Amino acid sequence: MTLNRREFLAAGAAAASGFVAAGLAEGGEAPAGRRQAVLRLSAQEGFVPGKSLEEKLAKLEKWGIEGLEPGGGIVGNEKHYLDALRNTKVKISAICWGSGGGALVSEDPARRGPAAEELKRVLSSAGELRSTGVIYVPAFNGQTKLSNQEIRKVLTDTLPALGEHALKAGTRLLLEPLNRGEAFFLRQVADAASIARDCKSEGVCVMGDFYHMYIEETSDMGAFISGGKWLHHVHLASRTRVLPGQDDRSFVDGFRGLKYIGYQDFCSFECGCRGDKEVEIPKAIAFLKKEWEQAKL
Ligand code: MG
Repeated sequence: MTLNRREFLAAGAAAASGFVAAGLAEGGEAPAGRRQAVLRLSAQEGFVPGKSLEEKLAKLEKWGIEGLEPGGGIVGNEKHYLDALRNTKVKISAICWGSGGGALVSEDPARRGPAAEELKRVLSSAGELRSTGVIYVPAFNGQTKLSNQEIRKVLTDTLPALGEHALKAGTRLLLEPLNRGEAFFLRQVADAASIARDCKSEGVCVMGDFYHMYIEETSDMGAFISGGKWLHHVHLASRTRVLPGQDDRSFVDGFRGLKYIGYQDFCSFECGCRGDKEVEIPKAIAFLKKEWEQAKL
């Protein structure tokens, strides 16, 4: 078969992006062969108003928020969460764990083993709660003396075993890129995805945070497409790190990227709030639904 130049380019583009067929599914919502993306909202536990976990879950359910994102405090408290979840439709989204002091990528190799064990315990708990993944930041600025290249090497040596542990537990490790003011290592979703690719474990995946992406990415859509099959969580925050809709940050281009990859996981509020949360959170939800609608492919 001989292809003309246009056919050749189209075939190459389709192959590169993993499609069998180029073009969009009917309705322009997802490329052919991909699942239609969903906007499933979540919120960090500390952000939700309420005196108890039960009160917070009831509030989320009332607002139509489907996910709760707890912190590392789940370890040893799994029953507390499972009991509370029994009376609600809300699910655990991701677990916001952090960097563990950067110990896993410390310049002192003696610190790495105990850090890996600690992370395994969080992954096991996350699996019990059927969480989509444990959010992991390799190091905030000042937490390691290793160079960019050295940190990457430690990660590609260490994370595959943690990824396999995560898979067995029924969850994932999620690398979170941050802006350069917080972490010199790992700033872009594509960089995180390339580390996940090189780890060769389906248990090592990535997430994207709209606040950091505004600073580091040239295209929200491009960033999420680069995340592709490795992208399993999203943090929602505006340009000034308050609720979406409270400043000029647009989510449309990013949502277009999520639709393109057929995203099925949560988008979770990790932000502050200007004003009364009881009033402002429902406004942010309405704003995001409108942005989602506007995100045509
Ligand atoms: Mg974040």
